[in-house]
Amino acid sequence: LFGPPAAGKGTQAKRLVEERGFRQLSTGEMLRAARAAGTSLGKKVAKIMDAGQLVSDEVVIALIAESLTAGEGAPGFIFDGFPRTTAQAEALDRLLKERGVKIDKVIRLVVDDDALVARMSKRAAEEGRADDTVAAFKARLSAYNAQTAALIPFYRRQGVLAEVDGMGAIDDVAAAIGRVLGPRRKIKGRK
Ligand code: ADP
Repeated sequence: LFGPPAAGKGTQAKRLVEERGFRQLSTGEMLRAARAAGTSLGKKVAKIMDAGQLVSDEVVIALIAESLTAGEGAPGFIFDGFPRTTAQAEALDRLLKERGVKIDKVIRLVVDDDALVARMSKRAAEEGRADDTVAAFKARLSAYNAQTAALIPFYRRQGVLAEVDGMGAIDDVAAAIGRVLGPRRKIKGRK
């Protein structure tokens, strides 16, 4: 799932986990977990995250590599918040190739900037994430525009990019994503 901060990637990723049994790989959540656990990695990345800047490629690529290995046998992976730079996208292609798998779709959630700011304020009030201040959010948005948006043509060239209107209700966005992914495959032990 691809898009700017607060586009709804996390929300939609969780539904795909629920509905299709995919494994969600969210580098943002992994980094927040490291901080909450007080690991040396968590301490190292805290300031960068609170400033809304990108953690180093090396760190997030290592997290993704570990999770791919840990998740072997899963029906699919849904990446949320990764890759965010061209180096990360290239590393992901390598990691997947080594495992004999590939990216099926890159689903871009298209949301306009005003709506993003409104969502962020709401989330800040509800969740109180340390990096959900207006200043940090603006920094995240500019990091997205400067470093991440370049991945749109990268994936368009690979022929895997699909664009979905992310402005609607959560259920409508989920339905649009469902149409891009096609019918669900039966998952053992699930209804
Ligand atoms: P957002 O709501 O901005 O999409 P995330 O939960 O995905 O936030 O990420 C929160 C923060 O974690 C980012 O601002 C950044 O500091 C760090 N981070 C997460 N994923 C990456 C990544 N792939 N590369 C670099 N930094 C990352």
